[in-house]
Parts: sequence; C-alpha cells; structure tokens
Amino acid sequence: MINQDYDLIVIGSGPGGYTAAIRASQLGYKTAIIEKYNNLGGTCTNVGCIPAKALLDSSEHYHDAETRFANFGIQVKGLSLDVKQFFGRKSEVVSQNVAGINFLMKKNKIAVIYGTARFLSNDRIAVKGADGSEQEYQSKYTIIATGSKPISLPNAAIDKKRIISSTEALSLNEIPATMSVIGGGVIGVEMASVYARLGTKVTIIEYAANLVPTMDKELTTELKKILTKSGIDILLSQRVDSAVSDGKKVTVKYTGADQKQQEITTDYCMVAVGRKPYTDGLGLENTSIQQDDRGRIVTDATFRTTAPDVYAIGDVIKGPMLAHKAEDEAIAAVEGIHGHPHHINYDRIPGVVYSWPEVASVGLTEEQLKEQGIPYNKGKFPFSASGRGRAAGDTSGFAKVLSDPKYGEVLGVHIIGARAADLIAQAVTIMEYEITDLASSTISYAHPTYAEALKEAFLAASGRGALNM
Ligand code: FAD
Ligand code: NAD
Repeated sequence: MINQDYDLIVIGSGPGGYTAAIRASQLGYKTAIIEKYNNLGGTCTNVGCIPAKALLDSSEHYHDAETRFANFGIQVKGLSLDVKQFFGRKSEVVSQNVAGINFLMKKNKIAVIYGTARFLSNDRIAVKGADGSEQEYQSKYTIIATGSKPISLPNAAIDKKRIISSTEALSLNEIPATMSVIGGGVIGVEMASVYARLGTKVTIIEYAANLVPTMDKELTTELKKILTKSGIDILLSQRVDSAVSDGKKVTVKYTGADQKQQEITTDYCMVAVGRKPYTDGLGLENTSIQQDDRGRIVTDATFRTTAPDVYAIGDVIKGPMLAHKAEDEAIAAVEGIHGHPHHINYDRIPGVVYSWPEVASVGLTEEQLKEQGIPYNKGKFPFSASGRGRAAGDTSGFAKVLSDPKYGEVLGVHIIGARAADLIAQAVTIMEYEITDLASSTISYAHPTYAEALKEAFLAASGRGALNM
C-alpha cells in the first residue's frame, strides 16, 4: 500500500540531498528526504568535511602551541592534549551541524523519513525502517543523492579495527605512536596532518609520483617538502601489495620502481585510495537507471537519469567528489525540474586540501596546459615576501597564476599558503566572469593581507611583477 505521495523525494541527506530538498521546497514542491542513518547530513557532515576540519583545526592549535608560540614570545608550560576533549569537540561540532540541518528541514517543511530506500520501480520507493517495517512512497520526481563509500584494496581489506578508513580515523579516540597511510590523496594528506601534529609517526605510501596527483605538480612538490619537514615520511611511486593485521599491529608491504618489496609495521594503517559511488541495496535493477563501468549513475547535463523523472547528483554521479559540487548540482537539478535549467562550469570548481599551509586550485594545471599545447604566462608570488605572511609567521608557499599570453584570460590559479582555501574564492570569481590577469591586479586589495600574494601573482602573469619569479 502506498503510504504517501510527494511531488519530489530526495534519497540521501548529504550536501547534495539536503540542498536539493530545500530548493525544491522553496519552489513549492511537496518534498520528502529519506536517510538511512539516524543523523541527517551524509558523509560530509558526519564522517567527512566537518569532522575532518574540526580535527585539523584542533591539531593545528596544539601543534602551534607546541612548536610555534615560543617564536612569538609566548611560553607554554605543561602543554598536554586532552584526548577525550579533542575528539569530543569534533563530535560536538558534528552535532551542531546536524542540528542545523534538522532545523532547515523543519523550517522548509520538508518531511524527513528515516530508513533505507529501495526502488520498486521507476516511480515507487520502499523504505525499510530500523524496526524492519517497510513503507511505500510515490512521487512525481525523485533525486538520488546516495553519495559514496571508501574503496578497499583487495589485499588490504578495511577491518575497521587496525586497518581503517577515514571514518574510523576520525574517531580513533587515541593518539597512536605510528600510522601508515595508503594513498597520498586528499584524505591521506589531511588525516596524516592531524595525527603527525599530535606526535604520531606517520608514513604515507602513494602509488603516483606526487602527492594529490590531480593537482598542479609545483604545488604538490612544495606540499611534500613542507609535510616532510614537519616529520611525515612520504614514499612516492610505491604500489601497496598488502596490509595484514595481527590485531595489534599492521604490516604493509609495498613495491617501488626497482621491483624490490619493502615493508613497514605500524599501530594502524589508514586506507585512503579513493571512494566509489554508493548504490548498494538501492534497487536500481528494478528501474531503467543505467550505471557506467565505475558504478556511477549515468545522467545528462540536467542530471536526468535514464529513468523518466529520476535525477541523480553528487558523489553518486561522475565528476569530483566534493561537497560544493554536490550542492551546485542539487540547485541545478531542481531548477531544471522547475523549468529553469542552468549550466555548471566544472572547470571552475575549486579543489582544496586542508593541510597547513592549505592548498587550493581552480582551472587548468601547468601540466594540463603543456599536454594540451596551450601557451600560457606564469605569474608567481611567494608568501615569504608577503607583509602579512611575515607578521603572522606564515611564510611558506606561493600563489601562482596561469594566463593566456594574448588576451590575459586566467586559465588556472594554484595556491599553497595560509588561508589558500579562502583565497581561491576570488580566483573562482575572476575566472567565472572572465576578468583578465591585468584587470584582476588593478582592483583594490586590503593591505596587509594574504590576498595581496594573489594580486602580485596576477601582476606577474600580466608582465608587471615586482619580483618576476
Ligand atoms: P553523501 O554526503 O555521501 O550523502 C549520501 C547520503 O545518502 C548518506 O547520508 C547515506 O547514508 C544516504 N544513503 C545512501 N543510500 C541510501 C539509501 N538507500 N536510502 C537512504 N539513504 C541513503 N568534500 C569537500 O568539498 N570538502 C571537504 O573538506 C571534504 N572533506 C572530506 C573528508 C573526508 C574524510 C571524506 C570522506 C570526504 C570529504 N569530502 C569533502 C567529500 C564530501 O564528503 C562528499 O563529496 C559529499 O559528502 C558528497 O555529498 P553527497 O550528497 O553526494 O553524498
Ligand atoms: P583520492 O583520489 O584523492 O586519493 C587516492 C590516492 O590513493 C591517489 O593519490 C592514488 O594514486 C592513491 N592510490 C590508489 N591505489 C593505491 C595503492 N594501491 N597504493 C598506494 N596508493 C594508491 O581519494 P581519497 O583521498 O580517498 O579521497 C576520496 C574523495 O574524497 C576524493 O575524491 C576527494 O575529492 C574527497 N575529499 C575531499 C576533501 C577536500 O575537499 N578537502 C577531503 C577529503 C576527501
């Protein structure tokens, strides 16, 4: 028996799902959101962006107190880490964000249904609650926003005890002496940063020749230098063959270009080799929804799947697995349903690594420009020459602008430095509205700010750089 009809049902309450539900309700659709866990917010709020940033910020404060305060004339005696409060604060931050989403659902009159959704057909959904009972729902439109799950390596299966994913690493409730990290991508670098700052000896083992291999090489080479100096061992161009736990320690075997196998034994091993779209138990086999060879739900440019009136957004479809990408797609999908489709410019979606200093990028990398034979000017400015950087003691890194030599169009901006994650917003605006490198340098930048490094990089790209690096 059909329990209730809605105009629009969203499956999954992550940043894609809750943003879609809010926009749909604003546009007058009778909307419901289905979530299998007891907490709304999805990966990002519960076991992703938010807890990771809470631990990154907390660990950075500790590390500063331990290693940097003395330089500012601040003496800290008897510094210690309250591990319970360290992880407890993270949980509080998560709870506050979950409460915020609950509030938004209520305020926007969105029905929240807790349970696991399964398609019975293209337009009928069964939801199984925690007590095992099943209710059936029908809607005119459905948006799938079921997100992603960590990938496990065949010979390094995640046991959630010693061989862990980021989810367990976010709630370890102890500071281990040693940890290996398989994968030097975004999660690998962020979680390695957290534990290394607290005294864990961390070793990152990465398959590619660079950390975060999708980012501009000059940035990630600088990142490697900074992280190595902070005490993290980084092994590049190493293929992990296996990870085996004896219940107390984990031994990871890996092989480099010389084909010699080596091993490392640590208290924990975190596997961070990417994530895969999550559609388990969703009943896609009962629909005409197609998936590609990587399990991603296939959509057109308006996020329509191959089933009528069923849409998909976020990590479960192609594209970078980022919260802001999921949110942008949520708005575009709902407004498309409402008859106002708009285009998402995927080249303008910024990527950030929340290490310290932060790393942030938008647009083409230098490697991509070379590969595609696109001529470019390069303007670079180091934070060591920034007045604000010196005042704050944050002199690592640089801002780099890549622009078209003829017209000055900004093709890519890559920053490693203090507050790069916030600085990149200006680069996104500049690229979105096609403001030239020269015009970008002639607007007013408050002095002294980190943003001036960006101004200087724009100046340098347009041939007026004071430093000409
Ligand atoms: P999700 O957030 O994964 O939400 C999907 C929801 O659907 C989940 O709540 C799930 O329980 C629910 N669901 C699944 N199947 C069903 C079903 N059958 N029935 C009902 N509900 C279902 N991105 C950033 O942009 N910035 C960051 O700083 C960042 N940090 C991250 C740190 C970590 C450690 C991780 C793991 C990820 C991070 N990400 C970050 C990535 C970000 O979390 C994802 O890109 C984002 O959460 C994707 O949103 P989504 O709405 O597509 O899916
Ligand atoms: P990732 O794709 O960023 O990195 C995975 C890394 O593992 C790659 O560098 C890859 O070369 C390496 N790897 C794969 N197999 C390996 C092997 N056998 N041995 C050694 N290395 C191997 O994936 P992730 O770090 O797991 O993150 C998953 C997703 O979550 C990413 O798409 C990311 O966008 C998102 N995320 C974003 C943020 C952020 O925006 N700050 C933070 C965390 C996660």
